[in-house]
Amino acid sequence: MELKEVIEFYKNSSQDILAKKANEVCEQIYGKKIFLRGLIEFSNLCDRDCLYCGIRKSNPKVIRYKLTEKEIIDAVMLGYSAGLKTFVLQSGESKNYSLTELCRISEKIKKLTDNNSALTLSCGIFTKKEYRSLKLSGVDRYLIRFETSDPVLHKYLRNGISLKRRLKAIEDLKELEYETGSGYMVGLPGETEEIRINNAILCYKLKLDMIGIGPFIPHPETPLKKSIKHNIGLALKAISLIRLLLPYSNIPATTAIGSIDKEGREKALKSGANVLMPNITPVKYKKNYLLYPDKICIEENGADCIRCLKIKLKKTGKVISYEKGDSKAKEINYA
Ligand code: SAH
Repeated sequence: MELKEVIEFYKNSSQDILAKKANEVCEQIYGKKIFLRGLIEFSNLCDRDCLYCGIRKSNPKVIRYKLTEKEIIDAVMLGYSAGLKTFVLQSGESKNYSLTELCRISEKIKKLTDNNSALTLSCGIFTKKEYRSLKLSGVDRYLIRFETSDPVLHKYLRNGISLKRRLKAIEDLKELEYETGSGYMVGLPGETEEIRINNAILCYKLKLDMIGIGPFIPHPETPLKKSIKHNIGLALKAISLIRLLLPYSNIPATTAIGSIDKEGREKALKSGANVLMPNITPVKYKKNYLLYPDKICIEENGADCIRCLKIKLKKTGKVISYEKGDSKAKEINYA
C-alpha cells in the first residue's frame, strides 16, 4: 500500500483489524520468527533533563551507577552463551563513559564473540565524528528515538534541546551506514492524533531499519507525574501502522508495552512487532534504571528473562530465532 492508503486504512480501522493486517504483513516477511536482543542498561548517569524520564539529571532519588567494563563484557558473554547474538548497550546521555572506553568495549565484544554478534548502542547524541569512531570500533547499530515529531512539544519535553538536533544525529548515523533505529513514545501530554500520524510518517520518511515504540508512562519523580497514563491501545495501533508503512523493518515489543499491560508484549507481537529484548543487565542494577514506574523484569536475571520470554512466545504461536536478525529494510532500501 502507498503511504496515503495506509494512513486512510489506519484512520478507518479498528485496532483488531489493523493488528490482523500488520501481523499478516510481518509474517509474509519474517515468518513466525522473533529476534532476540540482549539489553544491558550499563549506566543511568545522565546530563539531560527530559521531562518524561525517571533518570533525568534532576531526579535526586535515583541511585546512580555505571557498570565496569568487566561487568558489561561478562553480561554480554553470559547472554552469548545463552545463544543471544545481538546486544544493545543503553545508558543515559552522559560523558561519563569516554569515547575511548566505549570503543574499547565494542572492540572486546566483537573479538570475544568472534565477530559473530551484532552490537547496538543507545546512548543519545554524539557528534558525527564520534559516531564514526564507534562504528570503526565495531558498533553495528544505533538506537536514538526522536520521541515526538512535533518540534514544539519535542523542545518542551526535552528541556530545550531541539528536534532538529536529534534528526541530525539520525541523518549522521544513516550516512555512516549504521543500522539505524529510532521511534517515539505514544500518549505524551500535548500529543494529538495528528502528531501520532506525523510520528509514523517521519519514520517512513527516514526509512528506518528499526522502530521502537512504547507508551509514555508518567514517572512520579518527574514534572509529568500528573499526566494521563493511556491504555495499551494507542501503542498497539502505532505498532501496526508502522509495520504497514515499513514492512521490512525490525520492530520490538518493548518493555514499556509489557509494563502497562501484563500481556502487552504478546499483544505487540500479534500487532506487527518481531523483536523481543530480554533484559540481561546484572540484577543488582536493574531497579535503578527506572525510566518509568512499574517496570517489569527487574527482579530476575538475564537467563530467567530469556526463559520467561520463551514461555510467553509459545502462547503467541511465534518462535524464537537465534539469528542476528539484521534489518531487511537495509537490503531492499525502501527504494
Ligand atoms: N539516553 C538514550 C537512551 C534513552 S532511554 C537516548 O537519549 O536516546 C530509552 C527510551 O525510553 C527513550 O528514548 C524514551 O523514548 C523512553 N522513555 C523515557 N522515559 C519514559 C517514560 N516515562 N515512559 C515511557 N518511555 C520512556
